[in-house]
Amino acid sequence: MCGIVGYIGQGDTVNILLEGLKRLEYRGYDSSGIGILQKNKIKIYKKEGRISNLQSFIPNNLQTHCGIAHTRWATHGQVNDSNAHPHFSYDQKVAVIHNGIIDNYLDLKKQLESEGYPFQSDTDTEIIASLISKFLSVEKNIENAINQALQKLEGTYGLLILLTDYPDLIIGARSGSPLVLGIGENQMYIASDPNALIRFTNQVIYIADGETIFVKQDSYTTTNIHNQLVEKQIENIEWQAEEAELGEYSTYMLKEIFEQPEAIRRAYGEGGRLLAEFGNAKLGGLNLSTRELLDIKKIHFFSMGTGYYSSMIGCYLMETLARIPA
Ligand code: GLU
Repeated sequence: MCGIVGYIGQGDTVNILLEGLKRLEYRGYDSSGIGILQKNKIKIYKKEGRISNLQSFIPNNLQTHCGIAHTRWATHGQVNDSNAHPHFSYDQKVAVIHNGIIDNYLDLKKQLESEGYPFQSDTDTEIIASLISKFLSVEKNIENAINQALQKLEGTYGLLILLTDYPDLIIGARSGSPLVLGIGENQMYIASDPNALIRFTNQVIYIADGETIFVKQDSYTTTNIHNQLVEKQIENIEWQAEEAELGEYSTYMLKEIFEQPEAIRRAYGEGGRLLAEFGNAKLGGLNLSTRELLDIKKIHFFSMGTGYYSSMIGCYLMETLARIPA
């Protein structure tokens, strides 16, 4: 499950998309790609490997007001250019990027193939594009068509969709994979992680599971999957772009190591976690009473990456100090 970025507005679309992807690089990926709208046509550029491969593959000065971009971590199909996202529908009228896994994609693929729809890639994602195109060819209300297509999907998705027939629109949808809309001045950003858009705006709307968002340069509407309108709250992101950036460090791990003194200072400082007069710590989130804490029989840690090592230390401390199996 990797990265998604979309942009619509009068800014430098391709660079905004690439910059957004780079801010999501820390999550890891195996290929990347962008899809942009140009005069009612969608153009797709995608490449296996680093974002820099994609960057040197994209022609200079591509003019567009609207595009979507993706970093892939393959779950279905090999790591190669053709399995990278975006994916076109059979008629190239729909382009889709997707984070997640469509559990029933084989059934849907068989069904679509039996109706004569061809496929180019081995991914689960490609069926989404053709499914949407199929619904759009019979249902003229676009919100309805998209939501009807989404109702057929089982599994997880964070999706961005471009349509040649609606060049002023990006559609986002979420079920189990995060998606956030960033609201700018007469321009909109959409991403799987606020890191990708914090540089441009701190006004955001978090899309909830089962919601679809129709984003234009200066407006948006949100529906649930049954096509009923949903009211959304605009929220303010309080952290700064620098906090999420690599800055002078070559890796995020190194950055975290060098930030430890500051993190410890903050934990001990005013408003931090230390309750000096009680010789105790205040832990956010775990609001359990002493009695409830004493009732805990076993603790499970789930993590990956460097969190795995932290969890091993956590297990060790829980077992040796609290004597609780971890
Ligand atoms: N399942 C999709 C694929 O294999 C998306 C993977 C991802 O989340 O990057 O292409």
